[in-house]
This record gives sequence, structure tokens and C-alpha cells, in this order.
Amino acid sequence: MASAVDRRAVSDNPPGRNRTRIQLRNVQPVRAGALLLPVCDTLLFDSSEKFESHSGWPSFTQPIKANVIAYHFDGPAFLKRVEAVCNTCEAHLGHVFPDGPEPSGLRYCMNAVALTKVEKI
Ligand SMILES: [Zn+2]
Repeated sequence: MASAVDRRAVSDNPPGRNRTRIQLRNVQPVRAGALLLPVCDTLLFDSSEKFESHSGWPSFTQPIKANVIAYHFDGPAFLKRVEAVCNTCEAHLGHVFPDGPEPSGLRYCMNAVALTKVEKI
């Protein structure tokens, strides 16, 4: 919880070293059906990229923009499991697996509670 407060403080900073991050976030187009992270308001996925993976988790073929997600290897190499975190606030989002549909071939298996859907603009 302390880290969430810290992140909010960073977002509210006047122009300075953190300015670039704020500007990047604000220029993202907001549209109905997009899914964002409430912690930092970053748009992460478009609902058109969602597919039924039968895993019980919301699954997407790709993020709304390549640089909104950062990746960490967090398991043994043979599992090929990659953790996906928000590239803005580093919140845990879920995992990425190499068994998704075309065109990416990736399955972004996301934690539903980490995402909020933009119902209308
Ligand atoms: Zn974030």
C-alpha cells in the first residue's frame, strides 16, 4: 500500500524528471472497450484483442501498445513463464505464454482484478 501512495505522489509531481512519464500516459487515446489499470490510468489492452483461452483468466493476444507492459522472467526456464507488469507503475498484471493465437502467438493471461474496462468516454 505504501508503494501505491508513492506512485500517486510521483504522478502529481510538477514538471521535472517524471514529466515524460506523465505526458506519455496522457497522449494515449481513450476509447470504450479499452482496459486500463486503475492504479495509474494506463491503457493496457483493447477488448478486441481478447480471446477465449479456456484458462479462466482474461486473455489477450497483444497489449494496446508495445511499451505499456514490461516483462520479467520469474520461473525456471523450462516453464517459459514471463511475468507482465505495468511499465508505468510496475503493478503485477499476469503472465505471458508462448501458446497464443496469431498474429502474435502470445497469450497475455491477465489478472482480472488488475484491469478496469472503459465503458464509455
Ligand atoms: Zn501502471
